[in-house]
Amino acid sequence: MNCLNCNAPLTGAFCASCGQRHVSRPPTVARLIEDTLETLTHADSRLWVTLRYLMTKPGVLTRDYFAGRRNSYLPPIRLYLIISVVFFLLASLPNTDKSAEKPIEIDSDSQICEVDYTGPFAEFVGPRFRAACKQLKADNGAKLVESFQRNVPKAMFILLPAFAALMMLFFWRPRRLYVEHLLFLVHNHSAVFAALILDTISGFFLPASVGGFFSTALVLYLAWYCWHALRVFYEKRTGKAWALFIGLGFLYSVLATITLILTGFASFLAS
Ligand SMILES: [Zn+2]
Repeated sequence: MNCLNCNAPLTGAFCASCGQRHVSRPPTVARLIEDTLETLTHADSRLWVTLRYLMTKPGVLTRDYFAGRRNSYLPPIRLYLIISVVFFLLASLPNTDKSAEKPIEIDSDSQICEVDYTGPFAEFVGPRFRAACKQLKADNGAKLVESFQRNVPKAMFILLPAFAALMMLFFWRPRRLYVEHLLFLVHNHSAVFAALILDTISGFFLPASVGGFFSTALVLYLAWYCWHALRVFYEKRTGKAWALFIGLGFLYSVLATITLILTGFASFLAS
């Protein structure tokens, strides 16, 4: 019998060449549901093992990945995509705390939209700026917020690779590969987003005072997490890890702020 996927001769239940399990008949709907439930509920499933390691063992998933221990965990990028989709979906839900919402106050008679822009790309930016400004006045920024929320997840695909390149400067000896920094960042962002998902969900049912305490505890945990992840993955001593944590943390804040401002500006011009 041959593998239905790659046609290599079969020697067992799995193909030795491509790894596909041999199934001769199409699956039943019951089988599909069973598979899905197993993935989600089984304590030993890759998803839960990966999430447990991600949240409680900083740096270990990345270290294991490069040590070749990959089969027990979800691949890093897939993990990031799953978590970031859930995170940005939750973040885009309308804020339930209405008191926190402040409408943007713009005097509709003001001439602010008529400002003549003469900087670079004036022919491109000028008309878009005026149109976006009128839109902002008309809908109080609703469209801008919507477009910003849609663009931030995309901007992460620029921020992460850019910051990984910057990290190359911090690790000359022993030299580290670009892809090591990239996957380190992918795992750390997954952990931070997963923690923020927990924070958002807890906000739905915890009283405000307890929720505030929980959020503070999470922020402290995440700071410890990032420091510890540097120690584990880059095999640094405590002091060196602190220096890296502070230096990289500062640079990350700067780069993330610039990214958010540029995303906001691009969202404004496109709204
Ligand atoms: Zn095969």
